[in-house]
Amino acid sequence: MSLVIKNALTRNGDLVTIAVKERIITDITKADKKINETEFGTIIDAKQSLVTESLISPHIHLDKVLIGDIIEPNQSGTLWEAIQKTWEVKRNYSVNNIKKRASEVINNQIKFGVTHIRTHVDVDSIGGLMPLKGLLATKEDFKDVVDLQIVAFPQEGILKDDGTEELLEKALELGGKDIILGGMPHNELNDDNSKKHVNILLTLAKKYNVPIDSHTDETDDPNSRTLQFLAARAIEEDFQHKITVDHICALSSYDNYHAARVIELVKKARINVVTNPPTNMVLQGRLDTGAQRVGITRVKELLAAGVNVTIGQDCVHDPYYPFGNGDMLEVANLLGHAAKMTTMAEIDILYDTITKNAAKVMDVTHYLSVGAPADIVILHGVKNVHEAIRTTPPARTTIKNGKVISQTKFEYSRFY
Ligand SMILES: [Zn+2]
Repeated sequence: MSLVIKNALTRNGDLVTIAVKERIITDITKADKKINETEFGTIIDAKQSLVTESLISPHIHLDKVLIGDIIEPNQSGTLWEAIQKTWEVKRNYSVNNIKKRASEVINNQIKFGVTHIRTHVDVDSIGGLMPLKGLLATKEDFKDVVDLQIVAFPQEGILKDDGTEELLEKALELGGKDIILGGMPHNELNDDNSKKHVNILLTLAKKYNVPIDSHTDETDDPNSRTLQFLAARAIEEDFQHKITVDHICALSSYDNYHAARVIELVKKARINVVTNPPTNMVLQGRLDTGAQRVGITRVKELLAAGVNVTIGQDCVHDPYYPFGNGDMLEVANLLGHAAKMTTMAEIDILYDTITKNAAKVMDVTHYLSVGAPADIVILHGVKNVHEAIRTTPPARTTIKNGKVISQTKFEYSRFY
């Protein structure tokens, strides 16, 4: 299997030819250098459009996507109502139902240039292991086109929800090598139990030799301090560099002195951060009167401290978030607004958050370079990452392991 992309514009503005053989990028040369096209099975002319490594979606809940079609809307708009609204649907999940909804969103993400997805899946006493079974079946269906990692996520707490610790162990056994341990320590009845929740996560992660990817302090409550505890315990347990935390909205509610102290600990523990601007911009700030909080964490301060920050779609049309289509360029655009990242240098970082920064979270080799896996997106009609994030172009070609897995064309606009 071989493929060549002619007239490809790289992120630094070079016009190049990209050659792929046996799933690997074998050559990137200046476009004016002659290549022997007969050597390649597939020839694509990018027509001077931007070509980069494919996009990554490191945080989504594929078990819950699109349940907005069959559930009452969230009236208060809060996280806590969204969790409760989901219970009824969760009780009636089936493998086929989950596969159908998850597949629709995965296909959308592929269309938008995504080849790697990390999904969380609820593991609790309401749905048991049914959501996990649904997503394991989905993973098998998409195994040739998407790298799908699954996080066993105790959405309802661990101590608060009897039997969840045992279910998490079963999930880790069932999921095999690609399963990751999730958490939600701020969803316990008191601070002592939140700390116990963190300690359970570290014990299980060590026992099963898996990384942790934990929803953490997803609240505006300035007293929610589980990130600090998790980071400190990770250092004590020598578990640095194996933890990702999601949301960490409360960091924005701490005063600047405490926030700086926590950010320093996060850096020291080499913890990755996933911020989810679409969902948190609508869920957070609901108790604020007057000027409402934006809802996301301190992205610029984390980046300035050298913390790896990436972004997630999180939700697609469910009680948590009524919008979303899985387009990571749209998510990057939203982060630009929420974090006020508007200089060209900051917009460049926005693109990193959906490519190389996300690759660090998923622990995959992922860059447009000779020797790397040929996982590539062509963003037709745009010249640079600024245009890509500004216009979210509809026409894209997605390549996984050197094979075209999706192509969307844009024919024309007509004005009268
Ligand atoms: Zn989430």
